[in-house]
Amino acid sequence: MIKSIQSARPHVTRNEDLIFELSAPGKRGAELAPLDVPALSAGEALGPELARGEIEGFPEVSELEVIRHFTRLSTWNYGVDTGLYPLGSCTMKYNPRVNEVAARLEGLATLHPYAPAELAQGCLRVLHETARCLAEITGMDAVSLQPAAGAQGELTGILIIRAYLQERGQPREFVLVPDSAHGTNPASVAISGYKVRNLKSNARGCVDLSELEHAMTEDVAGLMLTNPNTLGVFESEIRKIADLVHAKGGLLYMDGANMNALVGVAQPASFGVDVMHLNLHKTFTTPHGGGGPGSGPVAVRKFLDPYLPSPVVARDSDGRYFLNANRPKSIGRVRAFCGNFGMAVRALAYILANGAEGLKQTTEDAVLNANYIRARLKDLYELPYDAPSLHECVFSDSRQAAKGVRTGDIAKRLVDYGFHPYTTSFPLIVPGAMMIEPTESASKAELDAFIEAMRAIAAEAEEDPELVRQAPHTTRVTRLDGTAAARKPVLRWRP
Ligand SMILES: *Cc1c(COP(=O)(O)O)cnc(C)c1O
Repeated sequence: MIKSIQSARPHVTRNEDLIFELSAPGKRGAELAPLDVPALSAGEALGPELARGEIEGFPEVSELEVIRHFTRLSTWNYGVDTGLYPLGSCTMKYNPRVNEVAARLEGLATLHPYAPAELAQGCLRVLHETARCLAEITGMDAVSLQPAAGAQGELTGILIIRAYLQERGQPREFVLVPDSAHGTNPASVAISGYKVRNLKSNARGCVDLSELEHAMTEDVAGLMLTNPNTLGVFESEIRKIADLVHAKGGLLYMDGANMNALVGVAQPASFGVDVMHLNLHKTFTTPHGGGGPGSGPVAVRKFLDPYLPSPVVARDSDGRYFLNANRPKSIGRVRAFCGNFGMAVRALAYILANGAEGLKQTTEDAVLNANYIRARLKDLYELPYDAPSLHECVFSDSRQAAKGVRTGDIAKRLVDYGFHPYTTSFPLIVPGAMMIEPTESASKAELDAFIEAMRAIAAEAEEDPELVRQAPHTTRVTRLDGTAAARKPVLRWRP
């Protein structure tokens, strides 16, 4: 039995640390009504092989203790609802509560996924409208809402490219991936049966046209590009890039995880993208990561529409919505039913609440916020690529590294100042990367507080590097083994 858990600050005795173990024999959290049928033991009712006796170590606690236990644990966490979360590339923005109201509407929340189309017209319309809005935002012609994450959208998109090229004679062998790409890009390429051909970035951190010309041969199925790229820099030669890929019969895939920099301002179809994914849990304010299931819709140009996952929501000649599974060229299903339906509801609520003007304003604010941080920190932190950036900025720790302070140390020290860390060590083309994406959700006051913390840490790195290297100093646990935490997580307390 745990009587106390180790506190990060041993001199502070927290009440909750002393009372972690709450179970005591005989305590109850629920009361059942008196039995009004003949009593049977579980063994008699189910057969002894199915009956479970005592669960050893099952906690015996009161209802209030359970509530306090979970409420307390929730306060040990940090999320977008508690403060600034500038985790670059992840677009951790506010999840508006009106989305939740919409997603909980009874007709949307409780419909059975096998309900016949005539009873599901409202839900089908939500899916149809969401896909239509995303098509308009991207400039593409058709959208599938099935993929459950950005990475699954990537896989779906590359499988669509493969099916298309296969039908034209041969699927080809390679997909080009820039060295600045998110790790999921090469992984999706490999899972789709293609080989990755790495593309070196130029001095601006962008696609090098001569490298591309050299690498883009007739055995290459296409290029997988993030735009703006993972440095937050817009690929200003994107039209030429698209032309080079198309000239060799390849297709242009866009990783749309950074669409928070483009929505309402630029449509990827207009600069030559053939297929792309969106992250509803990034750009479109649906809960991210452990906060809710993801959604990674895939948008394509007309000639790729037949290959989209099946079924798609369609309308018959009377205007009634139905699920069309009669799509012989489709790559098939990638997810049960129509994907994470509740995420489509939330994203649609966000899109409709903002309207075209609001979405454009959102993008402009996100870009402004990132550039404000960039401008106010660039005297203290190194900007390895000085190209103008959009919704996120990437510094390197090279100046602080001279004192032995690395990006991970600065990130941990930010925790002491009450902020979630930025993204460390990515993109890989920046050694000691510090990738900061404030999103439009942050107010000026919040940005200023973050900037002051970053400036204070830069001073600490000069004067007392050990203080930063030992951070965090204020948390329950200090430095964990991140690899073990990911590979061998302990998710359950056992007696
Ligand atoms: C987040 C992200 C992905 C993967 O999206 P998931 O929804 O986490 O699978 C891919 N590319 C980039 C650039 C990203 O930021």
